[in-house]
Amino acid sequence: MRRKSQEIYVGKVAIGGENPISVQSMTNTDTRNTVNTIMQVLELEKAGCDIVRVAIPDSEAAEALKKIRQEVNIPIIADIHFDHRLALNAIKNGADGLRINPGNIGSKDKIREVVLACKDKKIPIRIGVNSGSIKREIIEKYKGVNENSMVYSALEHIRILEDLNYNNIKVSLKATDIAMTVSAYKKAAEVIDYPFHIGITESGTPWAGTIKSSVGIGSLLLMGIGDTIRVSLTGEPVEEVRVGKQILRALGLLKDKIEIISCPTCGRTQIDLIDLANKVEERIGNISKPIKVAIMGCAVNGPGEAREADLGIAGGIGSGLIFKKGEIIKKVDEDKLLDELIKEIDKL
Ligand code: SF4
Repeated sequence: MRRKSQEIYVGKVAIGGENPISVQSMTNTDTRNTVNTIMQVLELEKAGCDIVRVAIPDSEAAEALKKIRQEVNIPIIADIHFDHRLALNAIKNGADGLRINPGNIGSKDKIREVVLACKDKKIPIRIGVNSGSIKREIIEKYKGVNENSMVYSALEHIRILEDLNYNNIKVSLKATDIAMTVSAYKKAAEVIDYPFHIGITESGTPWAGTIKSSVGIGSLLLMGIGDTIRVSLTGEPVEEVRVGKQILRALGLLKDKIEIISCPTCGRTQIDLIDLANKVEERIGNISKPIKVAIMGCAVNGPGEAREADLGIAGGIGSGLIFKKGEIIKKVDEDKLLDELIKEIDKL
């Protein structure tokens, strides 16, 4: 069961409560280069990104937000470290949300100024606790960087905002260690009801990072924890979105495409099933139907193993059977299998 959390809005995107789990990414362009940043955000939008974060390292980047905001459709979160003037500038220039830790802003007056500006524009603040940047006193108190010091750190930042009557909050508790991240979110879920942004920070290059993120984010989502996700990869941001969406599909939390079930092939396989499965994936990539298609190597196990599939192929010798809900409907030569399957998908 999904953890109960408050609902907030980042632009038009609702996060928390019963809302769909959104997918986020972060640009890796120089934000001051508005042309490149706009192009990258548009690419991310095309890939299905719901919310994008951009780094605001200086006032020129904060000013650039205005132009970027005008040219893109998805909400933009300004990522700010320490400097409250950058936060105010980003808000003025159209940021839909802030990622800033109030405990790092400085004096109470500066925090109040940022909070008032956020209240005025109704934009949320994400408190982002990262295992690498917990205050030394907290680390000493909780005997190291662990789930306890991470959760305490989040509570400390939350308290600062709540003391100013500010509740438009989202929280993340990220570590590079999967077990620590999962424990921290589990612990936090017992005491915090703000929506959670989840992810494994700095999870690595696309191959290793995809696995690490899938295990970490997947574990949390299976426990009902997580309202918005970001896969963090050392690669193209658009890949983060592809992986994020696929994690949601794999868990049945996103049903925007046809699901493919395919067998691993074995010594019984008599057709080029790997090539066929890849071609099917390519051909149906843009079809939005909530159905399952099975691509199986043999008629012995194929239809039976994929009975829950709506349609499927079971390979034979130089030919294959097309089946519907586990029942064979026709036999087709190998070179026509792909087209026949697509025809049947179109009929559904
Ligand atoms: Fe082998 Fe048939 Fe199973 Fe595919 S479906 S792995 S070909 S037994």
